[in-house]
Amino acid sequence: MTTVIGNLQQVHSRIARACTAAGRVVDSVTLLAVSKTQSPDAVRAAFAAGQRAFGENYVQEALDKITTLADLRRQIEWHLIGPLQSNKTRPVAEAFDWVHSIDRLKIAQRLSEQRPAGLAPLQLCLQVNISGEASKSGLAPAEVPAVARAVAALPRVRLRGLMAIPEPAGDEAAQRAPHRALRDLLATLNAQGLTLDTLSMGMSADLEAAIAEGATMVRVGTAIFGSRARA
Ligand SMILES: *Cc1c(COP(=O)(O)O)cnc(C)c1O
Repeated sequence: MTTVIGNLQQVHSRIARACTAAGRVVDSVTLLAVSKTQSPDAVRAAFAAGQRAFGENYVQEALDKITTLADLRRQIEWHLIGPLQSNKTRPVAEAFDWVHSIDRLKIAQRLSEQRPAGLAPLQLCLQVNISGEASKSGLAPAEVPAVARAVAALPRVRLRGLMAIPEPAGDEAAQRAPHRALRDLLATLNAQGLTLDTLSMGMSADLEAAIAEGATMVRVGTAIFGSRARA
């Protein structure tokens, strides 16, 4: 677990260097620690080192972990970043703070209906298939404006921005292109009257490129927790 502390420090240094290089202030980027497949104790270790926002991919695994870590619930922000099917929306609406993987209006509508009245609105991002990969989930860029307007009008959720998982690319110039496309799409939506502030992009391998293009939230797993048993 001591490695988690050192790894977190290294990731914070990478973020700081990337922000400096981009002329951005360091606290304009939030680090989301992706704890999928990692044990509750690994989350505790990161928490002890000051980490507060955690991202999970698999709904049942996440719900079990949130229950195990109930003593930290008020201090941790839980983000769902993996696919969400409509039959799983209720526990997600009840247990999470954010969902980054909205790829259909229907999912957002269900989350809005099912978000308990006593909780703050659920914070949402639309997932965009920015590299145009046939197998990847996410909305096509052309679909995003209409869905964004409809989601932004829902009462119990708050649309915050866009999320993407670009195709892996070798060098930073190639990595930057899809991140720039996502930033441009966000700017288009804001020019149309929305007020979105979140670009969820950048992972262990490409967070520098994402920050150079305006990422406000980077989702980092292996660089913090080490390699995973399953992807
Ligand atoms: C697993 C995952 C990450 C983290 O990936 P790493 O390469 O381990 O940093 C980020 N975003 C999503 C959507 C993921 O599924």
